[in-house]
Amino acid sequence: MMQLGKRISGRVVLLGLCLLIALAGPAEAAPQFGADRAVPGAPSGAYRAVRAGNLLDVRSGRMLRDRVVLIRGDRIADVGPAADVRIPEGAQVLDLTRATVLPGLIDAHTHLFLTGESHGRYEEQLLKESWQYRTIKAVVNARLDLEAGFTSMRDLETEGAMYSDVDVRNAINRGLILGPRLEVVTRAISTTGGYPLEGYSPEVPVPSGAQIVDSPEAARHAVREQIKYGADLIKVYATHHFRFTEDGKLANIPTLTLDELRAIVDEAHREGVKVACHAYGGEGLHNCIKAGVDSIEHGLDLDDQAIAEMVQKGIYYVPTLYVYEFEPEEDLGASGGKTTRARIHEASFRKALERRVKIAFGTDVGPFPHGTQAKEFEYMTKFGMAPAQAIQAATVNAAELMGWQDRVGTVETGKFADLIAVPGNPLDDITELERVKFVMKGGEVVRNDLR
Ligand SMILES: [Zn+2]
Repeated sequence: MMQLGKRISGRVVLLGLCLLIALAGPAEAAPQFGADRAVPGAPSGAYRAVRAGNLLDVRSGRMLRDRVVLIRGDRIADVGPAADVRIPEGAQVLDLTRATVLPGLIDAHTHLFLTGESHGRYEEQLLKESWQYRTIKAVVNARLDLEAGFTSMRDLETEGAMYSDVDVRNAINRGLILGPRLEVVTRAISTTGGYPLEGYSPEVPVPSGAQIVDSPEAARHAVREQIKYGADLIKVYATHHFRFTEDGKLANIPTLTLDELRAIVDEAHREGVKVACHAYGGEGLHNCIKAGVDSIEHGLDLDDQAIAEMVQKGIYYVPTLYVYEFEPEEDLGASGGKTTRARIHEASFRKALERRVKIAFGTDVGPFPHGTQAKEFEYMTKFGMAPAQAIQAATVNAAELMGWQDRVGTVETGKFADLIAVPGNPLDDITELERVKFVMKGGEVVRNDLR
């Protein structure tokens, strides 16, 4: 999750809350359970064919006219020009000839266990809602994200709901509920004083949004425990509190030490698991890069050295731009009108883009309503990306970051039949991706508003 600033006694103090965002709009809109909503787990071996008026080749960024995607069971069996692909007799044919078909989108930074409307909601969710209730909401959120076109996601920690994300992932994989394919973090790791809840009297025990460690040994133990209980990847919070300096720069206080981060990365990698590092900038960010994490999340304040080392080590950047657009007044107040986190972030993003840091699409959705995160594309393109590049970030790049390049991210033979469609051309108007009308996951139609 992101962090939000808070002023105390005229001085900016940090509160690592992801939330805040007093956002209008339906945060918990009820999904519709129509008879035509397919349930996964259809008989394998059955053929389906999608006739695509346009098919975006996300690797080249080229739009291909008049294609057929042939699907057998949950996989793509063939794809090519309509004239060349033979559709077997009896196959169900889906007519998307007036639409643009793309591979299912991937959001590499989500929070299914946050359903935020405002700042206070974070504390309320941890203090007043049971893990069971939060899991029910996560099930609703998963469906909203899938229906918006996100067929795969990395869910970057439950914010105090312990290992409940493992159950949501398993229920989706077993066809019990509808949702994206998930990689889950479980609890995430930070230090004493390095994550909410904070500000309570010492004699009042309160839950923590992350697992707390204060030594390399404890850090290694936390990684082992999280993997034991089902984590697909590990997330660390390497910076927490921040403030604006006199000259309008961002000062980020580090949490985990380099030794602790090295223990975490070493243990995760020896178990074949990747590490995602939440960091704004400064020492915490540099420690993560030195320790060899696999991705930097948010990365608001990337200096030249950080960028150079990320390029050299092939570390992914998951910027989550949109979520920082919600609180400019607060940042302006805290910086004496000099700057905002969003402005500092934009400069980092532009520099990373120019120096060819590998960028994967991620949104931090949760503090703002699930199913609305395609808005991120607008900011990626506004800050210098070509539409095709932004789509690559949300498909091939994110698939590689997940280690799933063999199964998702492109429309190619052998991959999961995860497809979406929009009426217009997203290369001309990237906001088309905010109006996804067709979603297929594993060969099953989740929604089709193009009929
Ligand atoms: Zn996050």
